[in-house]
Amino acid sequence: MDFQPDPGLASFRQEIRHFLEQHVPADLKGLPRSTRSPRHQVLRFQKLLHEHGWGAPYWAAEHGGNGWSLPEQLVFDEECVAAGTPTQDGFVHKLLGPVLNAFATSEQKAEHMPAIVQGERLWCQGFSEPGSGSDLASLKTRATRDGDHYVVNGQKIWTSYAHESDWIFLLVRTSTEGKKQAGISFLLVDMKTPGITVRPIRSIDDCHHLNETFFNDVRVPVGNLVGEEGAGWRITKFLLNNEHSTAAELPALKRYMRELLQFGAAQRIGGQRLIERPEFALKLTRLDAELQAIGMMVQRVAKLEMEHHPDSLTLGSMLKIRGTELQQRITEAQVEALGDYGAVAYAHPHDPAPDEPYPLQDTARGIANDMFFRRASTIYGGTSEVQRGIIAKLLFQL
Ligand SMILES: Cc1cc2nc3c(=O)[nH]c(=O)nc-3n(C[C@H](O)[C@H](O)[C@H](O)COP(=O)(O)OP(=O)(O)OC[C@H]3O[C@@H](n4cnc5c(N)ncnc54)[C@H](O)[C@@H]3O)c2cc1C
Repeated sequence: MDFQPDPGLASFRQEIRHFLEQHVPADLKGLPRSTRSPRHQVLRFQKLLHEHGWGAPYWAAEHGGNGWSLPEQLVFDEECVAAGTPTQDGFVHKLLGPVLNAFATSEQKAEHMPAIVQGERLWCQGFSEPGSGSDLASLKTRATRDGDHYVVNGQKIWTSYAHESDWIFLLVRTSTEGKKQAGISFLLVDMKTPGITVRPIRSIDDCHHLNETFFNDVRVPVGNLVGEEGAGWRITKFLLNNEHSTAAELPALKRYMRELLQFGAAQRIGGQRLIERPEFALKLTRLDAELQAIGMMVQRVAKLEMEHHPDSLTLGSMLKIRGTELQQRITEAQVEALGDYGAVAYAHPHDPAPDEPYPLQDTARGIANDMFFRRASTIYGGTSEVQRGIIAKLLFQL
């Protein structure tokens, strides 16, 4: 394949940069690193994108999206991460949006699409349950038909941002007959419906993004079923099949590497700059070589994905493993580069600045917290072990 940069992408990149410089206010840029920005920032940034005509950067033009190619979407993501804008609601733009475009009724689209694009609603994903994570098809949350409603009972877990979401897309069991996959359905549920309880789980980074979500006789209109009853597994496979080229989270990796270089140049040990010390330089070179390889692989997977080539599945799983493992190694190297007190002094992105400023305070704030959170990247979106199983199955036709 041709690894020459596409000249069209350079002018596209300029257009994105110009927008970010000219149209995004200063208080929505250079934000401290954080797993996801606070709700009000996510929604404000989405409104700005919408006003500029870019409210759906990942959707095809025929679905009211920008119609950007995958490489263009990657450039957009990279520039937003580099500028430190708020993160976007990936659940809705990259997972639910394509599902609604492909499977929803015109009433469902009319209800949800404008609110999503205009930045009025946040969504969360209710798939995993205690005992049903990798083996998702074993899920037990039950939806029983009662007239023109489903009555939902059960528990979801690890529901990211449920506490600040307006709606949830939910996998439920509507039948226990036949194969376990055949009894699963896909529901859209308003989080304000009586009977829903959200309980926080504090994660290793001492933040609250995760939750347990309980459903106790929650009445959901039948009109909120996406596709037909029992089609939930087919829809989920479609949902999980999107986005192979983004599995490595390349924009974040590039930002981490830029920061690591900056830390190496600024930190000194015994009068010598860290970057000049052979052991640090070697580590940096190795990490950067891996990053370059992942960057090329992302281009390759994006191309295969656009051609609907089946190899994009295998390579997507490889990218997920290599990209998330590299995230962990670069963020560890960042904390190490900050020295003995790195893990403590740069702990939390939203802590008030200390009275005595630390070196690299603005860039490095939240670094320890992020390093800890990255432990989860080899779990969410399908664990590394499960990805290895997928690769083996696809390569060796198991
Ligand atoms: C930070 C974070 C955010 C998340 N956000 C959400 C969310 O918003 N919504 C949601 O629905 N879920 C979410 N999840 C859940 C996530 O999808 C699951 O944690 C993941 O699928 C793994 O499931 P599990 O935790 O039940 O572990 P298990 O599936 O029980 O796995 C336990 C261990 O067994 C291994 N294992 C399991 N099956 C196999 C196999 N077939 N072959 C080899 N090894 C195997 C796993 O690799 C793992 O090491 C999130 C998880 C995390 C960590």
